[in-house]
Amino acid sequence: MTSGDGTGSCRGRSGDPRARRWVLARVLALSTLALPATAGDATPAPAGARAAAGGPTSTADATLLGFRPERVAAQRALEQRALALTDGQRMFGELLELTDRPRLAGTHAEREEFFRLAHELQEQGLRIDPSAYQVWLPLPLEARIERTAPSSAGPFPGPEGDGPTPEDVVMPCSGYAADGDVEAPLVYANRGLPDDYALLEALGVPVEGRIVLARYGGSYRGVKVREAERRGAAGVVLFSDPADDGFAKGPVHPDGPWRPAGAVQRGSVVYGFLYPGDPLTPGTPALRDAERIDPSDSPILPRIPCLPLAWRDAAPLLSALGGPAAPPAWQGAIPDLVYRIGRGDDSARAHLVTRSAARTREIANVIAVLPGRRFPEQRVLLGAHRDSWVYGAADNGGGTATIVELGHVLGALASEGWRPDRTLVLGLWDAEEWNLIGSTEYVEEHVDALRAGAVAYVNIDSPVTGDDFGASCSPSLRELVLEVARDLPALSGDGSLLDDWTARNGGPPVPGGLGSGSDFGPFLQYAGVACADFGFGGALGPYHALQDDMAYVHTVDPDMSRHARSAQVALLLALRLAQADLPPLTQSSTAGFVRDALTALGAAHPGRVPDEFAAAVDALVSAAARADAAMAALLASDATPSDETLHTLGLRLAGAERRGLDDAGLPGRPWFRHLLVSTSPVDGYGTLALPGLALALDGVDGDPKTEGLRLYARLLEMAAACSDDARAATAATDGDDAR
Ligand SMILES: [Zn+2]
Repeated sequence: MTSGDGTGSCRGRSGDPRARRWVLARVLALSTLALPATAGDATPAPAGARAAAGGPTSTADATLLGFRPERVAAQRALEQRALALTDGQRMFGELLELTDRPRLAGTHAEREEFFRLAHELQEQGLRIDPSAYQVWLPLPLEARIERTAPSSAGPFPGPEGDGPTPEDVVMPCSGYAADGDVEAPLVYANRGLPDDYALLEALGVPVEGRIVLARYGGSYRGVKVREAERRGAAGVVLFSDPADDGFAKGPVHPDGPWRPAGAVQRGSVVYGFLYPGDPLTPGTPALRDAERIDPSDSPILPRIPCLPLAWRDAAPLLSALGGPAAPPAWQGAIPDLVYRIGRGDDSARAHLVTRSAARTREIANVIAVLPGRRFPEQRVLLGAHRDSWVYGAADNGGGTATIVELGHVLGALASEGWRPDRTLVLGLWDAEEWNLIGSTEYVEEHVDALRAGAVAYVNIDSPVTGDDFGASCSPSLRELVLEVARDLPALSGDGSLLDDWTARNGGPPVPGGLGSGSDFGPFLQYAGVACADFGFGGALGPYHALQDDMAYVHTVDPDMSRHARSAQVALLLALRLAQADLPPLTQSSTAGFVRDALTALGAAHPGRVPDEFAAAVDALVSAAARADAAMAALLASDATPSDETLHTLGLRLAGAERRGLDDAGLPGRPWFRHLLVSTSPVDGYGTLALPGLALALDGVDGDPKTEGLRLYARLLEMAAACSDDARAATAATDGDDAR
C-alpha cells in the first residue's frame, strides 16, 4: 500500500525492507540473464553480408539521402564503427540504475537522477547546458475512494503489487485532478466520451452531481475528465478494464506483458490538448521570474477530482450499480460482473477524496551538446523523457537508456577526434508525464534558435514493448526513416527492419503522422521542427503502474537486443541527419500529405472545400517536386558547392518545415501554431491534418471561410517558396552563388 506523502523528501534507497528485498530478488533473478558478452548480437552484419541477408543491395549502398556520392563510403564506414560501439549490456546496466528508484518529476530522488545522468553524459565529453524551470506540480497527498452504499467497501486502491509497496512509490493518482471530498451516487459511463453521455441522457440517467466510473481507452484520459466536468459531474474514477490491457489479452506480469489485477494506470488528466507545458505559463518559458497566471485561471486544470483504479478495485464499485445491463459494447471483462449503468440514485454511492500539495517545483532537463564543425548553427536534436510515474522501465527507461547509449557512442567517436557536421543535441526531458512540460518549456525558451536552425527532432518514448518495429514522422522525414529501416537488420537477423515492417504491413509501409502524447509535440507544433518517433511495439500492460519494471523488461526483451537495436536506429538517424551535405528532408512528401488531407476533407464535406484549392495544391506539389529534384541534382552534379552554399540551402530546407507555422495559432487553441498538422482535441492523442480547416468544417471551432482562406493563402506561399528553393539549388549547381 502506498503511504508516501508524495512531497519528495529523500528516503534514501532502503524504504520498506521487505519491499526492498522483493525488488532485490527481482534484480537478482534478472542478473542471471544471458546477455550478449559483447556488442556482437546487436551489431549488424557488414555491408557486404547484408545484401545476401535481404538487406540493401549494392546499388542502395551507393547512395544516401542528402549525401554527395563521394561522401557515401566514408559515411558508411562511420556508421559501421558507431553501430559496433552500441552495447546492449551497457544499456541493461543503465536500465538497472534508472529503475533503482521511482523517477517522479518534482521529487528529490528524481532530481538526483538529473545529476547522475548529466554527469554520465558529461563524462563522455558532451557539453551540458542548463535547462531548469519552475512549474506548477501538485504531487498527491491523498487519493482514495470508499463505497458507502448499498454497503461499505474499501477504501480503494488496495495494494498494487503482490508484495508491499515501497514507500517512495507515489500513490495511484490522476495528475492535476482537482482536490475534492465528495460523497455522491455512482454511474457507469463506458469510456466517458460524448457518445456515451448521449446514451446516458437518452436513458434518463443523470450525471450532474454524480461520480462517473469510466474505463480507460478510446481517448487521452484528460478528455474523459473534461467531458465529465462539462456535464457537472462531482468526480471521476478511471479504471483499467482487463478487456483492454489485462488477463483477457494474455498472461499478466510477471508471467507476461499484460496488466495484473491490482496494477493502476496513473496519469495526468490536464487539458493538454489546449496547450502543453506548465499550466501557469502558456507560451512562455517557466523561468523563475516568468509572469504566471493564477491556478484558478488556468484553462487546462480540471475543476473536479479524479482517481485511477485497477480493475480489482473498480469491481466493488461497478457491482454496486443497479438497473438494466449496459449495452454489449459497454461490457468489459471483469469476472462475474454484468456491467450496469446504475440509476444515479442513492442505491449506489461512494466517497471520493483527493488532496495534493499544490505548489511550484523545479524541474530540469539534461541537455547534452556535441557542437558541429561544418554547419554548427544547424541542429539535430534527439530526446527522451527521463521522468516516470514509478520505475518506468519501459516508459521511459528504455528511451532514456537509448539516449544515454547515444552519448556513449558519440562520445567514443569524439574521443578519437571526430566531430559531427551539424550540432547534435541530446535532451532528457523532465515532467513529460504531467504535460510534456520539460520539452515544452525548453522549446518555448529556445524557439528562435530552433526555428532558425533546427533540422529535425527524433523522439524516443517507450521504444521497447515488443518486437514490431514501426515509426511515425513528419512527411518530410518519411524517406529517411524508411532508408534507416532498410539499412538495419531485423531482430531475427533475417532481412532488414524494413523487410519486417513491410511483411507485417502487408506491403510497403508509410510512416504514420504525429499527434501528441510525447515530447515531439512542442517541437512540431510550436517550433515547426520536422519530427520522428519510433519503437519496437507490443504490449505495455503495466503502463504507468508499479509493474513497469525490470521484470517487464525481462518479458519483452530478455537479451536486450531490442534495446540495442533501438539505440542503433537512433544512431543512424542522428548520423545521417548530422552528416548529410543537405538535410535529408523531402518536400514532395509534405506536398503529398497536404494533397491527401485536402482530398479526404473534400470527401468528408462534399462541396465545402472550394475548387480553388485544387490549383493551389497542384502548384505546391509540382514546385515541391522541382525543389527535391533540384537539390538531388546539386548533390549528384560535378559542381562542388562550397560549405557556405550548402549551409544556405540547408537552412532553406530545414526552414521549409516552418512554412506551415502561423503565430496566430489555431482557433480556440492559439498555442498550436502549425496549420498543416496538430493534435486532435477530440481524442487528445491522434494526428489531425489541416487542423484549422478540418475543425472549422466539423463545426468544432473556427469559421470555415476564414480558415479556408488562411490555408489557401499559405499553400500558395509554400508553393512560391518551393519554387525559390528549386531556383537556389539550380543556381548552385550551375556554379552561381545560391544566396
Ligand atoms: Zn512516456
